[in-house]
Amino acid sequence: MTFTIAIDGPAAAGKGTVAKRVAAHFGFAHLDTGLLYRATGRRMLDGLDPVEAARGLGAADLEANALRTPEVAQAASRVAALPEVRAALVDFQRAFAQRAGGAVLDGRDIGTVICPEAEVKLYVTASDDVRAARRHAELIGKGMDLSLADVLSDLQQRDARDTARASAPLKPAEDAVFLDTSEMSIEEAVAAALRVTAERMAAAG
Ligand code: C5P
Repeated sequence: MTFTIAIDGPAAAGKGTVAKRVAAHFGFAHLDTGLLYRATGRRMLDGLDPVEAARGLGAADLEANALRTPEVAQAASRVAALPEVRAALVDFQRAFAQRAGGAVLDGRDIGTVICPEAEVKLYVTASDDVRAARRHAELIGKGMDLSLADVLSDLQQRDARDTARASAPLKPAEDAVFLDTSEMSIEEAVAAALRVTAERMAAAG
């Protein structure tokens, strides 16, 4: 059985948490596609050509913790605007989406470009202030010393770049279900995503 759940939305809206929890609930595999761009951005900061960096990504490059910094996030959003970088990452993501047993992918262009045929498409959003506060708490919890204003400005800059780029910009698929998590707990957001998915599964038989 293949069954693909595509979860898109702006930075720090809760996509990752929802994706992880939905995948665990159904026993599906989960791919955080932002990590591919973060790893490419990291390699660019280390001096590699971004297109070569994307083409040569290996499992060791995706080690998540070192990639979760605002510096790497900014580099990710710059390399993500390059069509050749995006092209280098398409096959891996599509193969992952088609793996037997079901897959959840979260990112910016999953429902629009990578998996336009996904059985479930969610567009997860939250207000800028809520997203910044959540990301700030997460980074402080990891021992980073950042102001809330810096986190907000990082998110807004990336969203603006991700939305304005010509190649696979951040936007909801026409048939995406919106989930605004501004006033929701994690449990409520996950429950809403599970409900939508269960409905689609029943409809798909
Ligand atoms: O999701 P995350 O914040 O880790 O993504 C980092 C950056 O990678 C985003 O700001 C965006 O520029 C890029 N990205 C993308 N397409 C995806 C996932 C992430 O362009 N599917």
